[in-house]
Amino acid sequence: MSAALEVRGLTAGYGAGPVLHDVSLQVPDGQVVTLLGANGAGKTTLLRAISGLLPTSGSVLLRGEDLTGVAPEQRVRRGLAHVPEGRGVITELTVEENLRLGGLWRHGRTALRARIDAEYERFEPLARRRRSLGHQLSGGERQMLALARALVSTPDVLLLDEPSLGLAPQIVHSIMQTLRDRCDETGLTVLLAEQNAASALSIADRGLVLHLGRIRTDAPADALARDAVLRHAYLGY
Ligand code: ATP
Repeated sequence: MSAALEVRGLTAGYGAGPVLHDVSLQVPDGQVVTLLGANGAGKTTLLRAISGLLPTSGSVLLRGEDLTGVAPEQRVRRGLAHVPEGRGVITELTVEENLRLGGLWRHGRTALRARIDAEYERFEPLARRRRSLGHQLSGGERQMLALARALVSTPDVLLLDEPSLGLAPQIVHSIMQTLRDRCDETGLTVLLAEQNAASALSIADRGLVLHLGRIRTDAPADALARDAVLRHAYLGY
């Protein structure tokens, strides 16, 4: 199976020494790979490095194409979307305006309208709240908007940072299931960073455990979910 996303020997940080050390991984086409690890393990840093938001050494390949030197907005144009931790919804704009921004880099006006309407069909609560401002939404609706906004750009690869943060278990379950369904229906590829290992592993094909900026384990999701030692040592459940 070909890798939609590949990271080779990536080292990155914020200036005072690296946070990530020689990280390599592959996310096969149409799969969900979850990136697990405790607070501070480097999950957010890795997603930011893949998006081009941090200086790095090593390389990131999108469908085999090396993204070294490619600016973050150009990576979006090439099919890489990123939903940051905290969701990145612009709270002063309406749901509709947020969705339009999501597709700006990839679609003309007519195509964009169709893409937004398609997301309203899938995320029904957003359709009802299309004129509401971001700050008027519940946490679950905001996460839904962040996800829909990324999907409006019809990415090949979606980087998703802690979508479960601060949400009730039922909402987390629904968001995870939406994500899995989208991959199965459209071939979307997802790299999902999560501290909520149980819920991420329930929809993932593979899991990677990041510990102190290094990949400790790379295994099928069901095997990871069953591994008691790992669960206790790194995943906190
Ligand atoms: P969390 O789940 O808490 O977000 P994480 O696994 O995503 O954790 P990162 O946020 O990537 O971890 O943090 C990894 C390391 O990088 C930590 O030691 C953190 O203190 C450091 N770090 C994160 N952001 C910055 C920053 N802007 N400047 C300097 N150091 C940072």
